[in-house]
Amino acid sequence: MRVVVTDQAFGGVDHERAAALAAHAEFAEHQCRSEDETLVAVRDANVVFNNFAPMNERTMGAMAEGATIIRYGVGVDNVDIDAAKRLGVHVCNVPDYGVEEVADHAAAMALTLARKLGRYDAGIRAGEWKIGAMVDHVRSLSQTTVGLIGFGRIARAFADRMTGFGAEIIAYDPYVSAEDGKAAGALMQPLDDVIAKADILSLHVPLTNETRHMVGEAQLARMRKGSILINVSRGGLVDEDALARALEEGHISGAGLDVFEIEPLPDSSPLRTAPNTIFTPHAAFFSEASVDRLQRLAAEEGLRALRGEPLRCALT
Ligand code: NAD
Repeated sequence: MRVVVTDQAFGGVDHERAAALAAHAEFAEHQCRSEDETLVAVRDANVVFNNFAPMNERTMGAMAEGATIIRYGVGVDNVDIDAAKRLGVHVCNVPDYGVEEVADHAAAMALTLARKLGRYDAGIRAGEWKIGAMVDHVRSLSQTTVGLIGFGRIARAFADRMTGFGAEIIAYDPYVSAEDGKAAGALMQPLDDVIAKADILSLHVPLTNETRHMVGEAQLARMRKGSILINVSRGGLVDEDALARALEEGHISGAGLDVFEIEPLPDSSPLRTAPNTIFTPHAAFFSEASVDRLQRLAAEEGLRALRGEPLRCALT
């Protein structure tokens, strides 16, 4: 039996190594960036712990028969799920390790932008003091509508936080009923209404063919003038060129982005020079506790796979 970590951004891999040891399996750790590196690393692996390295037909085809991929985290957009099904590769994720951290991060971005902290801070450092000359579009949080696209775990935890500040919550999620939404504190609405009514629009959907660029030029134009966009889900949900233009024009008054279409964010990205942005390096999930939980839950799943037991969070 062979256990492989393709890549990870956490430091050590003690939980994963211990799981391999407990099942008397070989263990190898890598930091694969390219498909070719990944291909070599995963050859004949039975259990693969994976962060961002590409899991596609070619790399999965090199694994042992009936291998299991454990994706560190919620999103599996770097894993070709259809190819996994064809090849008989089991895929699972760890959906529940950092919900509170990601919700905290989205709330921190929303509050920072809504209260204009970046603009005031920069203004004072540039010798300004007059509030009116520094900001406009300052809406009381208690008169703010927060619009959510996707109303799963993280969106609900974020909604709880924003409700605490008096915001009204509206949400679009075709897989959540009006009753379920209401019970969790949100008024479920059609997508166009959520986009048009939100003062703060926050994205909480997985990246799929259906959701790619779901916030593009047309959607940004329909957003309220002076509204704020938060994206802690996946960069591919947003047309970044269109967002940069909407920020330049002042139609969107701020964007909090933890995720980007290409990570790290390229030097040439127009977002880098767009005003009123807060960037973080795909760090919303990160705290000491959440990372330990993520690796522990992933390692437990790995041990189940090695022992032939049912997986806790199987996706295929
Ligand atoms: P979740 O599965 O609990 O919720 C996702 C919701 O999206 C579900 O309710 C689903 O019904 C809904 N949905 C799916 N397709 C949709 C569509 N086309 N339109 C509207 N709604 C749709 O997932 P979660 O735990 O809330 O995580 C959401 C996303 O956050 C993940 O997919 C992941 O990409 C991202 N994430 C980012 C970080 C980070 O560090 N930045 C960490 C964890 C998760």
